[in-house]
Amino acid sequence: MRAIILSIGDELTLGQTVDTNSAWISRQLAAVGCNAVRHLTVGDAQSDIESAIRDAVPLCDFLICSGGIGPTEDDLTRQALAAVMGMELELDAAWMARLEEFFRKLNRPMSPLNSIQAMVPRGATLIENTVGTAAGITATIQASADRATSLHGVPLECRIFCMPGVPKEMKVMFTRDVLPHVQAAGGGAVILSRTLHTFGMGESNVADLLKAHGDLMQRDRNPSVGTTVSEGVVSLRLNARFPSADQAARELNATEASCRAALGDLIYGQDHQTLPAVVAGLLFEDPLARKWAPAVATAESCTGGLLAKYLTDIPGSSRYFRQGYITYQNEAKTNLIGVPAELLAEHGAVSEPVAEAMAKGAQCQSGAAFALAITGIAGPGGGTLTKPVGTVCIALASPQRVQVRTFVFSGDREMIRDRSAKMALTLLRFQLLGKPVPF
Ligand code: AMP
Ligand code: MG
Repeated sequence: MRAIILSIGDELTLGQTVDTNSAWISRQLAAVGCNAVRHLTVGDAQSDIESAIRDAVPLCDFLICSGGIGPTEDDLTRQALAAVMGMELELDAAWMARLEEFFRKLNRPMSPLNSIQAMVPRGATLIENTVGTAAGITATIQASADRATSLHGVPLECRIFCMPGVPKEMKVMFTRDVLPHVQAAGGGAVILSRTLHTFGMGESNVADLLKAHGDLMQRDRNPSVGTTVSEGVVSLRLNARFPSADQAARELNATEASCRAALGDLIYGQDHQTLPAVVAGLLFEDPLARKWAPAVATAESCTGGLLAKYLTDIPGSSRYFRQGYITYQNEAKTNLIGVPAELLAEHGAVSEPVAEAMAKGAQCQSGAAFALAITGIAGPGGGTLTKPVGTVCIALASPQRVQVRTFVFSGDREMIRDRSAKMALTLLRFQLLGKPVPF
């Protein structure tokens, strides 16, 4: 079952309002096994609405529209639908009576403009609006003769629903009067989704690992596995589409197990879990950390406290976060955490020996079990041939050892700082897991 979602309004195409309706509708459709294959957005011009409807009808079982059914001159969805259907608009006397009653109760005169809201293309039906004055409209549009031959396997008719744009009104109408039709047509198919998050490897490297492991990203696989990247986090999106919720859940679990087998501990969490929350969880449960609690200190140069911010984003972080040093200038690195001036002079502030000395110094000064240190070049200036912008040295001092690594992150200043802090959290995470960093 295929659906197309059409959002209508100049405020959307002008970028003044973000189209949240389509995302919400898509999620509702997915839950009943209906695939939203396109999101379309057009402005309030009738000709654009008409052509969007005409183009979409042959491609889907359900065309779900929102916006443009208000009482004003820029609300032209009903006129566009009537034109596509080749039908006149005619008065729905019952809805007209409802409108008159509505305004009588408010003790306000009804504007003549409102009467358009009781007009419906012949052959279409109004959908009740219990929240506002804009009734919805639904109609079934038959396929043209050539459609059956040109589009193989696509159903012969499209059911169209036009709803108000106001999200609150749309949601009530959709849930009560649209979704049940979609559900009934779908034979009860269900889509269940899960997202698994990784940090540290590029999207294509993650894809390679998934491919090597039973071709998990194969396009027509069910459950499907796709990747997306946001703020350095590469996420796997798993979607399982099956006739029953039980089967979808079973298949989703099996695919998740395969993804975990392919990527191992590179997967740090799922769905709404964040990297700091996962690290916090490990610190809370780590007996070693508990013994030394509070367990973590930070020494930051180029991230200016961002790592400490991430570590303290978590409620209850005083149980593990002892203190942070922001040692931006060389003098601070020496005065606050004892980085030898000679080391800075010899290797430069952005170097592995300095990162290591920062971590050891923070660990020693604070008495924390773990200390993370970050020193790097966040840019845009300050890069050299041997140390380009994005070069960041990260050290982790643990009770048993100190490890230090150099990374070269790409992106602007904000991205480099963010990736540095997340990488430091990642090093700590693998240390707490007792596993080697897999990249
Ligand atoms: P309309 O039904 O076209 O009069 O839309 C009324 C209001 O609903 C608009 O002014 C927007 O603020 C809001 N709206 C319309 N379409 C959307 C949409 N796709 N997503 C979020 N808000 C919307
Ligand atoms: Mg509008």
